[in-house]
Amino acid sequence: MRSHYCGDLRKEHIGQDITLMGWVHRRRDHGGVIFLDVRDREGITQVVFDPDRDESFKLADSVRNEYVIELRGSVRARPAGTENKDMPTGDIEVLGKELRILNKSDTPPFQLDEHQQVGEDVRLRNRFIDLRRPEIQRKLRFRSQITHYIRNYLENNGFIDIETPILTRATPEGARDYLVPSRTHEGHFFALPQSPQLFKQLLMVSGFDRYYQIAKCFRDEDLRADRQPEFTQIDIETSFLSEDEIISITETMIRGLFSELLNVDLGEFPHMPYSEAMQRYGSDKPDLRFPMELVDVADLVAAVDFKVFAAPAQDPNGRVAALSVPGGAELTRKQIDDYTKFVSIYGAKGLAWIKVNDLAQGAEGLQSPIVKFLGEDVALKIMERVGAKNGDLVFFGADKAKIVNEALGALRLKVGEDLKMHQCEWAPLWVVDFPMFEDDGKGGLTALHHPFTSPNCSPAELIAHPEGKLSRAYDMVLNGTELGGGSVRIHDQEMQRAVFKVLGITDEEAEEKFGFLLNALRYGAPPHGGLAFGLDRLVMLMTGSSSIREVIAFPKTQSAACLLTDAPGEVSAAQLRELNIKVRKAP
Ligand code: ASP
Repeated sequence: MRSHYCGDLRKEHIGQDITLMGWVHRRRDHGGVIFLDVRDREGITQVVFDPDRDESFKLADSVRNEYVIELRGSVRARPAGTENKDMPTGDIEVLGKELRILNKSDTPPFQLDEHQQVGEDVRLRNRFIDLRRPEIQRKLRFRSQITHYIRNYLENNGFIDIETPILTRATPEGARDYLVPSRTHEGHFFALPQSPQLFKQLLMVSGFDRYYQIAKCFRDEDLRADRQPEFTQIDIETSFLSEDEIISITETMIRGLFSELLNVDLGEFPHMPYSEAMQRYGSDKPDLRFPMELVDVADLVAAVDFKVFAAPAQDPNGRVAALSVPGGAELTRKQIDDYTKFVSIYGAKGLAWIKVNDLAQGAEGLQSPIVKFLGEDVALKIMERVGAKNGDLVFFGADKAKIVNEALGALRLKVGEDLKMHQCEWAPLWVVDFPMFEDDGKGGLTALHHPFTSPNCSPAELIAHPEGKLSRAYDMVLNGTELGGGSVRIHDQEMQRAVFKVLGITDEEAEEKFGFLLNALRYGAPPHGGLAFGLDRLVMLMTGSSSIREVIAFPKTQSAACLLTDAPGEVSAAQLRELNIKVRKAP
């Protein structure tokens, strides 16, 4: 057995005989003396072999990078002047006495002992090597500290960890299901859970009162940069608590987590209604580290001849908004062109702008291709409304409200990042008062959260005017990322049926898909609610990583494949026959 981890050795161990187990990080031959840097999960220590110990010297000479060794030796101070202040073990070294090679290693596909630019594909294909890198080890260990803290907090607050099935029925969280064919029920499929939503509600009906689970969830979505087909939620459900009480318990948990692990005081989280978030930031997960806001100017431009602005200003579904960038007049034409290209991703047909050179000169002091179309008066009124100052640049979005919100919302973040406009390191908030439904783009409505979210009105009111109704949902947002979201749920059948009705789900369909839930609601379902946090995103933010793949041990690629195991893979004809499945080749 080892006596110490490599990374733990310090001055106070000088004189001790020790045993280390680890990997050869690097081997150097310095004129007849062999130096091995030996690495384990706690760090690296330098070991020296003198030629006077013939046997171990020869062995040390023969090892290569990533060989696994057992080593006995004694700790001594490094000779004066050779200490390494950059290494935690840099004051000492180990004089190697006995060396045993526990396993050899082929030359690794990429070097670990020096910084090398390695493509993510190569890293993921050889993830077991990649995971040896200290920075990834640090992140995964930090992840473990996070879950440890959270489990502790929840257990101390009366929450019970209960596992829910992975082979189950579809849960409508808005993504496609991963399906698993059943061998014993021909032509039938399990769905992997998009979340434990329905089971956690059933647990409340069963009287567990407070549930949590660090749960794997599966969603077959078109993948964006920070999504994974399987990911982990900190899933929570409670009975008899109001939204404010649920918010308070979970906010205390996240505040405690940041304070304990990062020594950061997040303070009390502000609450912002969804409508205000969209109005001021064009987003339901506003990044409040940046001060810029979207300002409506439709009333000022509704009557101008410039149709690009006037038409959306007169359209009830349109929006004309301005985004004033402090100091933005320094942006070059090329930068503005790049931003124009950027907003086109969100469907914006262009990006109008006005540079504020000198307000004292009135409209003369404005530089812009559009002032002549808007008229000088209107242009100056807009400057006044947005509070523009000399040296600023004002961008405009004019289109359907959805496009303006998405385009200017994203532009706000990009400009904020590019011009380093962060005013603080952490900006948490709760977004509340979400609409219950949104347009599904096909003339119907779809649930903004999921169809088990409680509306803030009676079933009759909901059916009469579903469009404007709010739900009892809440999202926790941190630095523009949705960390978690949840709601108070529907706990009576009548309301659940009303919601299904608005969503166009027939009684038969509801019975077929969620009969078990409707049935459970008949037998004394308590008022209940909860939420789920995305663990991967939380770890990503707390470790300052740029992708969630950096904080997942074995992540999938953007095309939802595992390069390490080569999954998904083909299966044998016999397996398919057993499942009564015939694979049709894509035409
Ligand atoms: N099940 C929801 C989700 O996965 C979270 C919740 O409402 O508790 O987004």
